[in-house]
Amino acid sequence: MKITIHRGIDQIGGCITEIATAEARIIIDLGQNLPRGDEEVKDNLASREAIESITSGVDAILYTHIHGDHFGLFNLVPEGIPQYVGKVSKDVSICKLERLGHIKGREKQTAGELERVHKMIPIKASESIQIKNIKITPYFVSHSAYDAFMFLIEADGFRLLHTGDFRSHGYLGKGLIPTIKKYIVGTGPVDILITEGTMVSRLVEDVKHESELSWELTEIFKEKKNVFIWSSSTDLERLATIYSAYQEIKRGPFVYDDYQAEIFKIFSESAGTHSEIFKFGKAYTYSDKNRILNDLMKSKGFCMLVRPTEKFSNYVDKILPELDPAETILIYSMWKEYINPKSEHAKSDYLNFLAKFPEYRQIHTSGHASPQCLAEVCNLVNPRLGIIPIHSEKSADFKNLTIRDELKEKIITNTVVFGSLEVFI
Ligand SMILES: [Zn+2]
Ligand SMILES: [Zn+2]
Repeated sequence: MKITIHRGIDQIGGCITEIATAEARIIIDLGQNLPRGDEEVKDNLASREAIESITSGVDAILYTHIHGDHFGLFNLVPEGIPQYVGKVSKDVSICKLERLGHIKGREKQTAGELERVHKMIPIKASESIQIKNIKITPYFVSHSAYDAFMFLIEADGFRLLHTGDFRSHGYLGKGLIPTIKKYIVGTGPVDILITEGTMVSRLVEDVKHESELSWELTEIFKEKKNVFIWSSSTDLERLATIYSAYQEIKRGPFVYDDYQAEIFKIFSESAGTHSEIFKFGKAYTYSDKNRILNDLMKSKGFCMLVRPTEKFSNYVDKILPELDPAETILIYSMWKEYINPKSEHAKSDYLNFLAKFPEYRQIHTSGHASPQCLAEVCNLVNPRLGIIPIHSEKSADFKNLTIRDELKEKIITNTVVFGSLEVFI
């Protein structure tokens, strides 16, 4: 067996991992490099030629989830190579792309992307996929995108665990350790662990449980009448936190736009059938022409989900002058560096949007595993041959985690050969 980390060592995002046997070849994630602040994305693989070359002879591509840094290059894959993605992820992608299709000048590109996503084969948790002699079994993980998976990969007598992006401090995170115990290490030893390590270089970040954010939000809803919330439109767990916190207060209407309404519907009909917290109830779709809704918001107060787009800028410009600034707040619920003017990740459109509001507060927790969680997973999986840290600014820093000394010796950041198993980096 040969494992090739095409990209992902010493960088967050842009992940591409290949697993090959004499018979079969698969790729896990085909991610695009993350943009840095306002800069254009720099990605030497974001071309048809580069992806054609990487995917030449590949039997299948499987995506852990649909964040761009794992999924972003899917549209460059040559026709004929099957691509696998979670069923809900597929629906969410289609919903997103249908919106983008309205953007002038992007119609043709979006149509092509939509066609590719429509053809993707849906992955279902715990249902194995057989690609020639490689068996892949997906298991649900908690992450800031819903319908994210880790993969157990079995071939040539070896067992690998590829975690994708994950965490234990979300609602779905309580299943992480029991799943690994029962289905991964409970069914045999693991040879290689390929794991994300985003937080290894962000050791100082506060990692709260998702439910703690709900309490913090409830306090704000008690304090302020008019609350705008800016979070990821596809982060099921965060949306559930916000929606459920507002139900505690139920002041005025819960307001979103028609795109967010569609995403809520997809989540309610999927995750909502497994857990009440993911079943979203009544909410209002905003329109600046809907006088009744605008009057209701003004008189009773509201919670409104917003994003830094032109459409929301126009909405906010109309709504804000009607409100008392002392009773109005924006909650920013995403990574702090995007709005830190001193950071290389700062985005000027984000900062401009933020500046519209009389006051803002940050309520957020990471979508990635805490250092303690990473250590617990490494110690529990206890791979026989090695740990390959990907999705981390400095992969070698993995040895700073509280993992057993013998595991520290097994951290792989360079090409290595273990008899019939080769790791190329
Ligand atoms: Zn990622
Ligand atoms: Zn992600």
